[in-house]
Amino acid sequence: MNKRKRILVTGGAGFIGSHLCEMLLKQGHDVLCLDNFFTGSKDNVIHLMDDHRFEVIRHDITREIFLEVDEIYNLACPASPVHYQYNPIKTVKTNVMGAINMLGMAKRVKAKVLQASTSEVYGDPQQHPQPEDYWGNVNPVGRRSCYDEGKRCAETLFMDYHTQNGVVIKILRIFNTYGPRMQPDDGRVVSNFIIQALQNKDITIYGDGSQTRSFQYVDDLLLGMTGFMGTPDDITGPLNMGNAHEFSIKELAEMVIDMTNSRSQITYMPLPENDPVQRRPDTAYARELLDWQAQVPLREGLVPTIAYFENLLRR
Ligand code: NAD
Ligand code: UDP
Repeated sequence: MNKRKRILVTGGAGFIGSHLCEMLLKQGHDVLCLDNFFTGSKDNVIHLMDDHRFEVIRHDITREIFLEVDEIYNLACPASPVHYQYNPIKTVKTNVMGAINMLGMAKRVKAKVLQASTSEVYGDPQQHPQPEDYWGNVNPVGRRSCYDEGKRCAETLFMDYHTQNGVVIKILRIFNTYGPRMQPDDGRVVSNFIIQALQNKDITIYGDGSQTRSFQYVDDLLLGMTGFMGTPDDITGPLNMGNAHEFSIKELAEMVIDMTNSRSQITYMPLPENDPVQRRPDTAYARELLDWQAQVPLREGLVPTIAYFENLLRR
């Protein structure tokens, strides 16, 4: 059993955050789930509410807050393009002001702080797969910039608080992650395709479907994320975390149709602006540092994910 700690999870009522809260409670820690419920939901954490070691705080991380904790996982930020483009200025504020507030708290109480960064810091990458020392290819003035540049600036702030103030930081670059509790309306490819397939509606492929992504099941991410938090204080990252198997979007569509026995047809729609052509993590550093690699194959992780959406549609 790990030493009992008090751990803050910002964005704790979201898809990844709710799974993280659950895992940390199982490990015996006290968990503070902070969320403004923009894209998260109480439904995601309702099953944890009876646990006296679990607290929910309704708060927006763009505003300061004073808490006493040992560790902070900073996940608060809308993650799907539909949601982060809804109010792009707010997305930048959440990333930048939120990072400053969480880093200030970490500095004050000497907490370790992990930043949920993203493969989007690589933009539309010109190097493939993407290692951590690749600086990326990001449009600073496009539709995705509020998220990409917001996350890049947050990484800068994390590194500067580390070098200037000695804050113990962990920068984790998360690649596309899926699993139960993704929101049905978030427009991301896995949730969209599953819902369309379950309803026998057209599967909407943007572009010709040859663009690629690497899909990581949420359980794999959580093991790596908590493992990274436990590394010695001088290990800062950035560290990539994602599944090393790459699929085209068309392959994903065909797999989902097959697994749901759907009558859906594929329909092709225009590709959104600055949509990355290919994306796959170089995970050599995660293997070396944590002896970690994603274990759950896409076809396996889709089973509980499809079951989750089936259940949701039945309600
Ligand atoms: P999500 O939208 O389900 O969760 C984000 C949570 O943050 C939500 O509960 C939302 O209400 C909350 N939130 C948003 N703005 C906030 C604010 N200003 N103050 C307080 N709470 C706020 O998304 P997710 O997929 O669970 O992503 C979690 C984190 O992981 C995000 O930071 C995201 O950028 C990062 N990430 C996710 C993926 C992925 O594939 N899911 C990939 C890379 C990085
Ligand atoms: N996509 C698609 N159909 C959809 C939703 C997304 O073809 O209904 C494509 C999208 O254009 C992108 C890929 O799937 O190329 C992954 O999109 P998502 O929004 O899930 O994540 P991101 O682009 O941030 O990796």
